[in-house]
Amino acid sequence: MGRMALSAVPAPSPRTQAGTAALASLLSDPEHAMLAFDFDGTLSPIVDDPEQAHASERSLQALERIGPCVGKLAVVTGRPVRTALRLGAFAEREGLAHLSILGQYGAERWDAETGVESVPPPPEAVAEVRAALPALIDSLGLTGVRIEDKQRAVVLHTRGLPDPAGAQAILEGPVAELAQEHGLAAEPGRLVVEVRDPSVDKGGALRGLISETGVRTIVFAGDDLGDLPAYEALTAMREGGDVEVLLVAVASDEQTVLVPRADVVVHGPDELADWLERLADALGC
Ligand SMILES: [Mg+2]
Repeated sequence: MGRMALSAVPAPSPRTQAGTAALASLLSDPEHAMLAFDFDGTLSPIVDDPEQAHASERSLQALERIGPCVGKLAVVTGRPVRTALRLGAFAEREGLAHLSILGQYGAERWDAETGVESVPPPPEAVAEVRAALPALIDSLGLTGVRIEDKQRAVVLHTRGLPDPAGAQAILEGPVAELAQEHGLAAEPGRLVVEVRDPSVDKGGALRGLISETGVRTIVFAGDDLGDLPAYEALTAMREGGDVEVLLVAVASDEQTVLVPRADVVVHGPDELADWLERLADALGC
């Protein structure tokens, strides 16, 4: 395929002026661009067992093509770095030399360049909440809630229960109260409630990476509430004229909060993989 102007914009094309400008900036100066991705529901499909949420092979192949052409690749996830490394097999892929993984919303970090993992010790309050959760869940009359221990955070999963949305709604208030007693926050996501330190978020994580790398164009793709701080931080930076930003929403039946704020909307990780393949073509990578 040629690199004619008409075929150079990967479909779906941006529906906003700012997004169109950011895409043009990415295509004309990829070396000063960063592509950043949430993991679950974005690079990987949401599945019943979060331990089996492997990254999409097609997205990984597209990133292997795009990686050498751009200044920076990043995965910014609520998962621990080690879990993202296992489910994405990022360390074993070609072309990802510029990849950094910011785990637990930016509290943890891994860089492909050095192979070094930075994993600070978790706050003690998280262990206290974890210990109190089984009794709290019992007292609410719920069975089958899955507790994922991320050390720096605890995630309650209701996926797979007879009424997962109902169970999530029952959990939210009492879990928020328990979290607050320990100086933490309970944040809802797609059929999950996560208890964690609210001072760390994906917005701060991305700001740090942008100032460190000096990139001028940022593409960020996400699917859930935990990606909202990233959207907000990048939108503010764009409005401040600091950087060009292209926001991609991976929409689902469960969560559409990012859709009205996005420049490009795709439906599910498979459509994101399609878009990344077209982007690799447009970049000529
Ligand atoms: Mg996600």
